[in-house]
Amino acid sequence: MPRIAVVNKEKCNPQGCGGYLCIRVCPVNREGSECIVIDTDKKVKIDETLCTGCGICPNRCPFGAIDIINLPEALSRPIHRYGRNGFHLYQLPTPMFGQVVGILGRNGIGKSTALRIVAGMLKPNLGKDKEAEWDEVLEHFKGTEAQNYFEKLKSGKIKVSFKPQQVDLIPKTTKGTVLELLRKVDEQEKLAEIMDALDITDIKNNDISTVSGGELQRIAIAACALRDADLYVFDEPSSYLDIKQRIKMCEFIKSLAASKTAVLVVEHDLLILDAMCDLIHIMYGKEGAYGVVSLPKAVRVGINYFLDGFIRDENMRFRDRELKFVAHEHYQKILNTPTLTSWNTITKQLEKFKLQVNEGLLHKNTTYGVLGENGTGKTTFVKILAGLIKPDDGVVDASIKVSYKPQYIQTDSEEIVAAVLQHALQHYEVQLIRPLGIKDLLLKPLNTLSGGELQRVAVAHALSQPADLYLLDEPSAYLDVEQRIACAKVIKDVVAARGTTVLVVDHDLMFMDYLSDNLMVFSGRPARQGNATGPFSMVDGMNRFLQELKITMRREKETQRPRINKPESRLDREQKASGKLYYSKSN
Ligand code: SF4
Ligand code: SF4
Repeated sequence: MPRIAVVNKEKCNPQGCGGYLCIRVCPVNREGSECIVIDTDKKVKIDETLCTGCGICPNRCPFGAIDIINLPEALSRPIHRYGRNGFHLYQLPTPMFGQVVGILGRNGIGKSTALRIVAGMLKPNLGKDKEAEWDEVLEHFKGTEAQNYFEKLKSGKIKVSFKPQQVDLIPKTTKGTVLELLRKVDEQEKLAEIMDALDITDIKNNDISTVSGGELQRIAIAACALRDADLYVFDEPSSYLDIKQRIKMCEFIKSLAASKTAVLVVEHDLLILDAMCDLIHIMYGKEGAYGVVSLPKAVRVGINYFLDGFIRDENMRFRDRELKFVAHEHYQKILNTPTLTSWNTITKQLEKFKLQVNEGLLHKNTTYGVLGENGTGKTTFVKILAGLIKPDDGVVDASIKVSYKPQYIQTDSEEIVAAVLQHALQHYEVQLIRPLGIKDLLLKPLNTLSGGELQRVAVAHALSQPADLYLLDEPSAYLDVEQRIACAKVIKDVVAARGTTVLVVDHDLMFMDYLSDNLMVFSGRPARQGNATGPFSMVDGMNRFLQELKITMRREKETQRPRINKPESRLDREQKASGKLYYSKSN
């Protein structure tokens, strides 16, 4: 059985373990062989050919720095490896002409590496210490769809256009207006058409340094699509976009896959991934240790396998539990719970923007979802409830204590996570720290965390504060699918265990469907005027919201997960005719 040994050099601390504990306990070393040795950097390195996989060293290392992983026989040779005892990637996604192919998997298991190899930006090393020759790469893929693709890539017949994950870095490397930037990459003379399709025309004369995150994302997608390419790669295209923009982006990306072009997408919004792709690859593995790309699957089946944690047609279990959706009939719960806070009609003018919030109230022991386009005042309302902004008219019962997680949580602080989460560590280890996967982050300074790590720390921090009302603004941003489901579960557990109230603003409709008992809906003209209504029951709220989006949803039979109906399909027409746009039962 192939085996890999991975040493996390950041975690390895030979002084802290009393002096190379792993070397002292390894039975192979004790018999005189050099299975674990001291590397040139004074950390350890492990010889996988001598290791018997006894499991002693990963158990004894007090810093969790070692992973010994037995792999299925089929995974004998990685496609790429980051140095000895470093991250291993097995197999690759395969672009297909005329199709949108998605990649679904957790963070930290090599999705970006896989994309960069397919895009020709990183030459694989096939597990050796140096770059492989093209002939070796072609030999590796002999007889597969990928061989054909890499032959074309090698001979320069494939031109790739790539939308990177971190669009917020664009203003750091690019100067000028949006139009100037896009003109430079308009190789197909489709500038006006694509700007229109992605709602960029109105901001075309804005300086790139002044545009918002959602605008930057749409500009980056446009810049990618304007190039004349054979393969378009989009790494997380939904980040920063509201749901209306996500649906537009989804239709736009689908339209790029023609007979001579292929599209590859990494996406964590399952509803959007589902609606956008023809096929998907599941990626599984262990964060920072190894990642495996499955064979392609039809999108419905692939997402169900992913939620199951079991790839049936490859007989591969990669998670010991299912990620479950419950088609819960949420709606009656509030009738039985006391009121927490209420407001009469609120208005607030902020420069050119006017917000009106209809009279409403929040109950205890309830989770509220807040849905609406960007720029319609959701964050302003949250800040009014939090007492951070005073309304012009109307009164909020301000006697409640509020804990608030803002939308943007960039931090330059060098403070250690354990210090920031001291209260959570003392009181909510089981409720927050463990399920949000924060244990491994405790000794890291805040300014070294990735977006997803920082998000989990911010959610844990907000939910650990003593409060009557918790306001979480976009908690799913930067989280992968598993982390989103874990986060939604944590929120529901906090409500159930503490009888408290949580209000969540987010654009991932599956995440919101999973966690919300009731919904508030924001509508209006972005940046001009916003109207807030509700809270409503889930059915009423979703019906109102989907009406604006002009889409309908159903539940998938096996998993109960929500899916967007194909526009003009039989179900879409039937549900629109009956006014049941959000269909809570499976069909
Ligand atoms: Fe010590 Fe763990 Fe490093 Fe081995 S891997 S030297 S046990 S800290
Ligand atoms: Fe040694 Fe391998 Fe056992 Fe670790 S797992 S103690 S390296 S034989």
